[in-house]
Amino acid sequence: MRVHLVNPSDLSFGTAVITPRWLFVLAAATPARYGTPVIVDETVDPFDPESVTPGDVVGIGIHTGNALRGYHVGRVARDRGAFVVFGGVHSTLYPDEVREHGHAHAVVSGDGDVVWSRVLADCESDSLQPSYDGGRIPGDSFVAARWDLLEPEKYMWASVQTVRGCPKHCSFCSVWRMDGQEPRQRVINEVIREIVALRRKGFRFIVLADDNFYPVTLEDLAMADRRADKSNLNELKALREERFELMRQLEKLPNDMVFYTQITMEAAEDPEFLDAMRRARIRGALVGIESVTPEGLKAVYKNFNDAGEGLVKRLQVFREKGVHVLGSFIFGLPTDRPDTFDATADLAQRAGVTFAQFVMLQPLPGTIDFQKWEREAADGPTVDGIPLTRYWLIPSDRRPRIYTPHPVMSPDEIRVRTQGVWNRFYSLGTIWQRSTCVRSIKARLAFVLLSKLYRQMYANTGIATDSARIARSVKRARVLAKAARRLFMAAPMPELAEPPAPATDRRRIPVRVIS
Ligand code: SF4
Repeated sequence: MRVHLVNPSDLSFGTAVITPRWLFVLAAATPARYGTPVIVDETVDPFDPESVTPGDVVGIGIHTGNALRGYHVGRVARDRGAFVVFGGVHSTLYPDEVREHGHAHAVVSGDGDVVWSRVLADCESDSLQPSYDGGRIPGDSFVAARWDLLEPEKYMWASVQTVRGCPKHCSFCSVWRMDGQEPRQRVINEVIREIVALRRKGFRFIVLADDNFYPVTLEDLAMADRRADKSNLNELKALREERFELMRQLEKLPNDMVFYTQITMEAAEDPEFLDAMRRARIRGALVGIESVTPEGLKAVYKNFNDAGEGLVKRLQVFREKGVHVLGSFIFGLPTDRPDTFDATADLAQRAGVTFAQFVMLQPLPGTIDFQKWEREAADGPTVDGIPLTRYWLIPSDRRPRIYTPHPVMSPDEIRVRTQGVWNRFYSLGTIWQRSTCVRSIKARLAFVLLSKLYRQMYANTGIATDSARIARSVKRARVLAKAARRLFMAAPMPELAEPPAPATDRRRIPVRVIS
């Protein structure tokens, strides 16, 4: 019984930017008696049905964006006589759909780390159940990935997770509903051990693939301090101290290592935290800015962000503290107007955002926005009999770009204006101006290359409706990605030792953050 783990994708760039972590985690969760799992990341190489023989297990992890491709892989694998097991966010939300379209024998909901070995044992004894609930496991049960199975020549950055869950409740995001609002932090030494394993293989750029690297804000502490019962305050302080301890441990790693994470903008109010990030060489962070107007922020339940000039100042703080921001903006909010697009592009440039992504508001299953849209669009149009509220089941060449209806702009106007902002932000002249964030000419040229790659991968393949244009973008991205990968890798350090475990490292239970 061989185990295959498949990350489905319609588009392959030959070289991927970030390692799909779950593949290597489930490989580690696979008991040794089943042999080494076959790992297939279709963002790099397509799945080969011939590799599957009757009685094998094919595990497929899907989110909404790759569900349709995942279903194809599932059907092919079942035809080959394999046990087909689906997991991932989308499977958790739509287990019946996964059984119907992906021909799944079993669907795993929640975290797969612990329950996976039970699924395999049930395959072995021919007693596979239709459903398994992996639940939300505590941070000290997260399984460390098997990086020995990673082919370094195929990826630019590797990913390590330090915390799951986010205490916020943004309306367009499913993270807090799927991973919970209680941050579950991993044991620090296990995080460091994984990073050391990656540096040994030559990875020096590591993504801390956390839902929110800054789970306790100064405001959370102040609120907890106002309560008579100080137990929550003490828990929050302990959680915060663990973040600092983790960053102290990152400092001890080879100094050519660079980290990148995802945090909320409130970190700009916390100079102590930003200083610790700089010392730990966390040089970049994805910050969900979403909207530059207070009305837009209110629409997505993100009032904790600043707007206008306050926003510019907060973003500049990151830059001053040596943290490059990848700003994420959403277009198509009901409060957006045609002039919002230019205002956003201006602000992103003025605020010193190093990279930016401009996404169109799209209702994603598992979010509050989706629930609302699904209710309102219940009797809406269909494509080939498939309701738009199940848009991910429509083949991509016939799938309309889905947006929630907008009071003053058509979907196409939003799409064209969004593409215009990408073009403006990533024009050669503007990228060259921004490249002053690095010093040498070589580094500035690398910055230009990366900016162009980012745009090819995410703007042209995500927004364009014309398949010939998408194909051209994939081709260009393949060439750029190959060149860019060399910029990120370093000479392997097989002898690199792990730093001693910190004295504060301990098993912990999730903490409630009241925001
Ligand atoms: S802060 Fe980020 S991760 Fe948390 S709910 Fe909002 S968008 Fe999702």
